[in-house]
Amino acid sequence: MRHSYRLILIALLAVPVVFPAELDRTGKLLEEISNAFGPSGYESDVRAIMRRELAPFTNSMETDGLGSLIAASKVDPSAPRIMMAAHMDELGMIVRYITAEGYIKFVTLGGWLDQGLINQRYWIKTRKGMVLGVTGLKTPHIMQGNERSQLKGRDEIFVDVGAKSKQDAEERLGIRPGDPIAPDSKLAVMNGGALYVGKAWDDRVGCAVMVEVMRKLKASPVAASVYAVATVQEEIGLRGAHTASYMVKPDIGISIESGVAADYPGIRQEESQGRLGGGPTLFLHDSSMIPTLSFRDFFIDTAKAVTIPLQFNVLSGYGEDGAEMQKSFSGIPAVNVTVPTRYLHNHNGIIARSDFDQTVDLIVAVIRKLDRPTIERLKRFD
Ligand SMILES: [Zn+2]
Repeated sequence: MRHSYRLILIALLAVPVVFPAELDRTGKLLEEISNAFGPSGYESDVRAIMRRELAPFTNSMETDGLGSLIAASKVDPSAPRIMMAAHMDELGMIVRYITAEGYIKFVTLGGWLDQGLINQRYWIKTRKGMVLGVTGLKTPHIMQGNERSQLKGRDEIFVDVGAKSKQDAEERLGIRPGDPIAPDSKLAVMNGGALYVGKAWDDRVGCAVMVEVMRKLKASPVAASVYAVATVQEEIGLRGAHTASYMVKPDIGISIESGVAADYPGIRQEESQGRLGGGPTLFLHDSSMIPTLSFRDFFIDTAKAVTIPLQFNVLSGYGEDGAEMQKSFSGIPAVNVTVPTRYLHNHNGIIARSDFDQTVDLIVAVIRKLDRPTIERLKRFD
């Protein structure tokens, strides 16, 4: 089509469109960190982002033996140590073997739904670079009867990388057993800038909260040493938080996570509470931890004082890094504070920017009040 005709056609077809708001600095960080590749055990791309982002606000940067990044703003060695933890890993897979025809069979990392795995795009990180693949699904045109409504189990699913054979996948694409696989999903802004849809909010949203908390604390320092710990391998058993807690030896712990929003069809209040846009959500029970009640009350009082809405979540399942901090050494007070998220553990989760900002502000307000006498009071059992 000639250029002038194309312009006329575009003008005729033009309809009003609501363009998303431009991403600000924080929005761009959320975009970069959500898009980053980093299934459990393969967090190096996310670690590089966290290292870069936390460097200006910290005076100490180490990694532990598993790869968790321990960035700290340290003051006097006698000052109390406050540990924040957010995990860098996302759900993913590992190449199990390659079929003779060149299809990739895998083992999952983290709590996938079988129905979430299928008909999606993935990246495989190989020694020769990133390889795009899709989880193939038989076309409905050739299905019989109730086959159309049946779900495929994860062991039946494969990744199609467009290889001609096993040899082609290995030699041309560089794929080997053990290579990590992560979802392909790019951040998009919804609802005029209020909501962000993307992958890996669990727990990249917590990682970004830690960066913004450290930025605000740098502007007006506190009396405690504050540790921002970006942990590894949370989704496969809180492994990074375990070793990192023993490096930090915290006096008090704040896990920062993606929470479970319960404001969409098909989810019941008995399963989860809270909603997008309702503010940060404090966990009062999950399968890994119950928070120290005095610390819960401290969060409630602080939220009231700074007029930030606070939601609660009492879950039967779920696990989080707070559990490992709480159980480290002889035990410490710990809580899990979250940014409510819809559709966790899938390619497309949704968070509200207002919840993110309020979670940052609440944690900053809490840390500002955590001096030595307050922490000692929260640790005491009468
Ligand atoms: Zn998580």
